[in-house]
Amino acid sequence: MNLEISKMNLEIVVGKVEDGKVVAEKIIKEVEVKMATTILDLGFRHKEQIDIIGSIQEEYIALQANKLSEKYAKWEKCVGKTRKDSMHYGDYHSSLSDHKLKMQGHACRCGWHKKPSIHGEYGTNVHPDLIKMQGTLGAKMHYKEAEETLGKFSYQKRSVNNHVKIAEATNTVGSILNKIKLKEEVRANEDTGHLYMQVDGGHVKDKDKKKRSFEALIAGVFKESSYRESIKKNIPISNHVAASAINDGGEIINKFILDTAKKEGMTKSTEITAFCDGATNCWNIVNSLEAHCKSITKILDWYHIRQSYDRAKICVYQTMLSNLIHLSIKCGMVKLRKLSRS
Ligand SMILES: [Zn+2]
Repeated sequence: MNLEISKMNLEIVVGKVEDGKVVAEKIIKEVEVKMATTILDLGFRHKEQIDIIGSIQEEYIALQANKLSEKYAKWEKCVGKTRKDSMHYGDYHSSLSDHKLKMQGHACRCGWHKKPSIHGEYGTNVHPDLIKMQGTLGAKMHYKEAEETLGKFSYQKRSVNNHVKIAEATNTVGSILNKIKLKEEVRANEDTGHLYMQVDGGHVKDKDKKKRSFEALIAGVFKESSYRESIKKNIPISNHVAASAINDGGEIINKFILDTAKKEGMTKSTEITAFCDGATNCWNIVNSLEAHCKSITKILDWYHIRQSYDRAKICVYQTMLSNLIHLSIKCGMVKLRKLSRS
């Protein structure tokens, strides 16, 4: 019996195939296949996976960059072929790896010349998949935290993922979404008889330290059944939420809250029970729905009922006290006058 164990390797190879023939090959990774003694040895480590993807991308994108340069080998406004001009390099950032692409420039006798670049061709040198990750994380956590998370995910510190770039991506995506949401026409797909609404507001510090803080409002709308479900299963209440700064006189938040309520099934026959802290801006949002539903029952939330009660109690006490003092001074004066006459 032959007990000799044969050596086995695994190769990850990328090949360039033209007209069915392999014209170039490159080994991306070569490993000896061994039984994993611990779970750590099973498959490639996180960094190895990132490196493999990055190396494959490097080969693939270089070929695509050539195709882009080839586009300018002939220019529609020029007679005949253009000549090759200088080579230049440009940065490109895909979801998990960064690349420096070599691009061929072209020029013509007439003076026309072109230095193609990823940014010039596509308007950005960051792949939208990465922008999506930056925008999603940037909207959910601090930008520095998002930078750290993306760094862990791609196993390296990448300049494209620094917090300033994440802030830019988040703001750009946010303003585009805002424009889309403002144009969105929402129709209620169901007729919900009763909806609950909760509005709250607060002051947000402006990132520009010279500017004053600004007021922002957030409003949530949910069905009675969603509330019951959340109690039964101990899960958050399923709802639709609208939020906006109100430096526009409430125009955006009013549009968003109307869409939000329609998404929860608000129609002309819906009765709404609204809770808020009693601030005028909060009630204004609630009032903006009055023309679109059957009725709204407005309730001051319990915390603010208590606060108003305490304020009223103090006020009544102070009035009574001042009346008593006033009364005792009056009585004293009458007694003094009587004494002076006697
Ligand atoms: Zn020309």
